[in-house]
Amino acid sequence: MTTEPVEAFRARLSEFLTGHGPGPRPRDPDERFAWTRAWQATLFDHGFAGPGWPEAYGGMDLPFAHQVAYQEELARARVPGPVGTGLGIAAPTIIKFGTDEQKRRWLPSMLRGDRVWAQGYSEPGAGSDLPGLRTTARREGPDYVVTGQKVWTSHAARADVFFTLVRTGAVADRQRGISYLIIDAHAPGVEVRPLRDLTGGHVFAEVFFDGVRVPVADRVGEENGGWPLVRTSLGHERAAGAMNQAALYRRVLTELEELLRERGALADPLVADRVAGFEIGVRIMRYNAQRTISDILAHGEPGPASSISRLHITAFEQELHEFAVDALGPAGLLGRNSPGAVQRARWLTGFLRTRASTIGAGTAEIQLNTIAEQVLGLPHEPGMPAAG
Ligand SMILES: Cc1cc2nc3c(=O)[nH]c(=O)nc-3n(C[C@H](O)[C@H](O)[C@H](O)COP(=O)(O)OP(=O)(O)OC[C@H]3O[C@@H](n4cnc5c(N)ncnc54)[C@H](O)[C@@H]3O)c2cc1C
Repeated sequence: MTTEPVEAFRARLSEFLTGHGPGPRPRDPDERFAWTRAWQATLFDHGFAGPGWPEAYGGMDLPFAHQVAYQEELARARVPGPVGTGLGIAAPTIIKFGTDEQKRRWLPSMLRGDRVWAQGYSEPGAGSDLPGLRTTARREGPDYVVTGQKVWTSHAARADVFFTLVRTGAVADRQRGISYLIIDAHAPGVEVRPLRDLTGGHVFAEVFFDGVRVPVADRVGEENGGWPLVRTSLGHERAAGAMNQAALYRRVLTELEELLRERGALADPLVADRVAGFEIGVRIMRYNAQRTISDILAHGEPGPASSISRLHITAFEQELHEFAVDALGPAGLLGRNSPGAVQRARWLTGFLRTRASTIGAGTAEIQLNTIAEQVLGLPHEPGMPAAG
């Protein structure tokens, strides 16, 4: 771990970001994808990727205060986040449960953005109730043969690798019959069908596996022993980017305040009162994120309190965009190509995009259940796997 003083680190990072920034964000989705990926490689090649990762796999292994400074500087510089969901969710799981060979094989290329990872957990009949999943992996010699369907797989159309949950035991075994398998997205028998979301984008997709052969060596953890990995993975999913989100919304809120001031809306005491509420919310987001990072550093896991952070961020971003569209009046409802659209309709797009925030990574109701049972110690919900 570094002994560099945090302010010296912040200055060095800020200088790097000024000198090597990725340039303007392309509008075309394919160009934007290539731009994001190239930026991830630049960070990696200069030793500025993976703030919490071990150095052995290309990470920075930064202490707490440095990780906070890292996320703040990146948000301030307006650089893109990582591609896919591998870095925030799969990587911590593989770092904890993978073999040395698996870590060497998968982690550096994921961190550099050379291979994009996507999460294949949810199925048409298994979202909140993940132990009900039915995609099967049948053992045949050195391989598993995987058949089934996943849904809502973010970034699937861009993915090179899926980290998935598959059924290796009986359906009746629920969470005791699940394994964690890494599947090559380009293998024969894999089909990806993009789904359109409210904003018109195609970020998520359905994924079909039809007799896909996956080497047994690509299973992480024991056969039928995937459930502990799921808990680690879901904790990190809920924690992922909490500090980055806090830094991002600090900047977004300031930008909204400037816009409302310019348009004279901030003079309205009711508008000013709402803005004060969001100022408080963004500070709470930062404290929650700090707690999450310190839990990871102390215990290796974000723990169930990451659900508090996730719930707060998702409710905050929905309310903020709803308020922004309201406060902008009719102009706030114009689409990005309409004359008179405000800031290329970013607030309207944000309003539509964040409708799904309280569903992804576990619905708001599931986060509330986790907080009730695992943080507050209230009685366990019958039918769901026990915590611990
Ligand atoms: C933007 C977005 C991105 C996503 N990305 C991915 C991804 O990359 N990979 C992936 O695997 N999945 C992904 N998902 C899927 C997501 O994890 C599921 O949608 C989510 O877990 C809910 O599952 P479901 O859609 O099957 O709804 P259900 O589980 O069927 O829930 C329906 C309703 O019932 C409520 N409910 C269900 N069970 C309970 C309970 N026990 N107590 C109280 N209320 C309950 C829910 O809160 C919800 O309101 C994504 C979803 C979205 C919206």
